[in-house]
Amino acid sequence: MIGREREGWIEVICGGMFSGKSEELIRRIRRAKIARLNVQAFKPAIDDRYHSDAIASHNGLIADARPVSKAEEILSCLAENTDVVAIDEVQFFDDAIVEICQQLADRGIRVILAGLDQDFRGKPFGPTPVLLAVAEYVTKLQAICVKCGAPASRTQRLIDGLPAADDEPVIQVGALEQYEARCRHCHELIS
Ligand code: ADP
Ligand code: ZN
Repeated sequence: MIGREREGWIEVICGGMFSGKSEELIRRIRRAKIARLNVQAFKPAIDDRYHSDAIASHNGLIADARPVSKAEEILSCLAENTDVVAIDEVQFFDDAIVEICQQLADRGIRVILAGLDQDFRGKPFGPTPVLLAVAEYVTKLQAICVKCGAPASRTQRLIDGLPAADDEPVIQVGALEQYEARCRHCHELIS
């Protein structure tokens, strides 16, 4: 960051699954805490992969986070002295999240968001594309393609070991499914 920066902006960390978004978000939270900033972290209540009240990365890092079922809950839970708001899995929030992040940043809060930019079809995911557009800073991470070893921008969805169909719902609770990192060229969709 160059020049004299005023307080309050939006940072987005995006990429496919396994690209290190949660890892990077946790790193930024830790550094903010080292700087003695007051951090509040949130995640959508839908994401309880490992911990219901924490952000967890695939390599085992953890940071406390409050699960919220609607974007508005972030405003109602906000403490007066909060300097930094961190949100993981931001793609699962409703569109109201955009205005809420804008309001927080306007008020002088540093807003750090992490989320998938594409769904398993390779299409823009939920509110993430709009958040990327309004953010001051964007970090796009790549995983490693499990097929060819190239940088992976996509998330392959497998159902019973086979590529998922194009019209499969994006969120399918309880299905026997798996996700893996793949590059554009190794990404497969059954149409
Ligand atoms: P994200 O939040 O983007 O899903 P995480 O931060 O949870 O990613 O996990 C990143 C970690 O996942 C990496 O540091 C690495 O240890 C592990 N990992 C597993 N598979 C892959 C892969 N195909 N490419 C890159 N990292 C991987
Ligand atoms: Zn590949």
